[in-house]
Amino acid sequence: MWTQHRYQALSARFYEPVELSPSASPSLLMLNESLAEDLNLDPDWLRSVEAVAYLAGNAALPGVEPVALAYAGHQFGNFVPSLGDGRALLLGELVTGDGKPVELQLKGSGRTPFSRGGDGRAPLEAVLREYIFSEAMHALSIPTSRTLAVVLTGEQVARETMRPGAVLARTAESHVRVGSFQYFAARRDNEALGLLIDDVVARSYPDLLPLQGVERARALLAAACARQAQLVARWMAVGFIHGVMNTDNISLAGETIDYGPTAFLDNYNPGATFSSIDRRGRYAYGNQPAMAGWGMARFAETLLPFLADNEAAAIAAAQEALDEMSYAFQEAYEQAFAEKLGFVSVDDRNRELANRLRDLMSEAEADFTATFNALNAIAAGREADLLPQVFAALPAFAAWKADWKAALGTQTEASAVRMRRANPRYIMRNHRVAAAADMAAATGSLSGVLDLLEAARHPFDRNARIDYLAAPPFPEERGIRTTCG
Ligand code: AMP
Ligand code: MG
Ligand code: MG
Repeated sequence: MWTQHRYQALSARFYEPVELSPSASPSLLMLNESLAEDLNLDPDWLRSVEAVAYLAGNAALPGVEPVALAYAGHQFGNFVPSLGDGRALLLGELVTGDGKPVELQLKGSGRTPFSRGGDGRAPLEAVLREYIFSEAMHALSIPTSRTLAVVLTGEQVARETMRPGAVLARTAESHVRVGSFQYFAARRDNEALGLLIDDVVARSYPDLLPLQGVERARALLAAACARQAQLVARWMAVGFIHGVMNTDNISLAGETIDYGPTAFLDNYNPGATFSSIDRRGRYAYGNQPAMAGWGMARFAETLLPFLADNEAAAIAAAQEALDEMSYAFQEAYEQAFAEKLGFVSVDDRNRELANRLRDLMSEAEADFTATFNALNAIAAGREADLLPQVFAALPAFAAWKADWKAALGTQTEASAVRMRRANPRYIMRNHRVAAAADMAAATGSLSGVLDLLEAARHPFDRNARIDYLAAPPFPEERGIRTTCG
């Protein structure tokens, strides 16, 4: 069912063994049954005392050594040569129904050799946030880690106040990140870097296996940059703000990982940040493409010894991949917005319409998701229920709408169908997520969380019971700050 993690066969330099720190009375709070089934895990077994002990980090999977992975990273631009899993624990590997191997990791199960001053624990609110956001991203077909279970530890963790402690069990294709490469580059350990290149290729880019040496390294850089460009374009198209795109949180599998102060845009604003620690807006919504490029430049630097036999040629190769990444991002981003507006592909006319609409939304502080839903309704000949009257009544919007309709021509019905798939009705709105997570922690009631999960899993389908989740926040409900937990 599970197997040893693959790092053990690679090199002991990649991780530190972890001595488990069992919690007093773990209990299963939430189980992702559909993921469990996809992983061929029996949900009834997962509810057993035996399985909950694994999910809490109270017991190791038989035959598997639990470890914390080593990595470095740039945190808000500052290089830290040793970060590592300070509150995460790699339990082992599982295989999905399609035969795809995934790593099973716990978050919040206690201290590791990388914990430094931290407690290695997680408050329930942060764990529930990650569950909600990762389910939403998965249903939006955006590559992401997945949440298998939420376990209450039965203990309190000290934050600003005492919070209920929880452990998140999650799966990901791989937890190798840009920071994993930086860890070995900082130690000038080219042997480990070579092993890591081969591991990432085998795990996440198997098409590149026939290539060797310089060709393999160059192709990996190009492919990883391309994947990151696609990922961030997808984020931008749904208004997703990761919140902490440090290089230790950029996965080389191209998945969204390490949800922390994550949020979705309400009103359209390229400068939007929710994170309480991102005071300068480094990871603001509109900065994400640049920050992904910056992070991948740090990855490229670690590969320099592998890209050519002299430094000038290596730098030129790296620059080429990074330039390509920004073109690829722009193309994917424009394509996504063309589709959001009901067009099949980008042309000058709809590119300009998208630009103008973003400017209008920005000026009027119009809600991003509600605006696109309203346009979808208009294309379908229905009433645009979510669009605030003030925005709908703007003369500039009326002029824009006329130009947009003219560009769509007579194809509005087909456009409306395309738009339906490109414009979620439900995103995980920050004020709702905060209220639901707080309620769960304060009262034990999961009703808000369960509503959000239902909306997260069916983002495109209007659901009358939970349609309150589609409404934009009132101005006073905006601006709730998020934390890493
Ligand atoms: P993050 O920004 O959440 O990806 O975390 C950055 C680094 O801080 C990683 O090395 C984490 O393992 C570590 N870290 C975050 N929270 C804690 C905690 N409560 N205890 C120990 N380490 C932590
Ligand atoms: Mg070791
Ligand atoms: Mg992290």
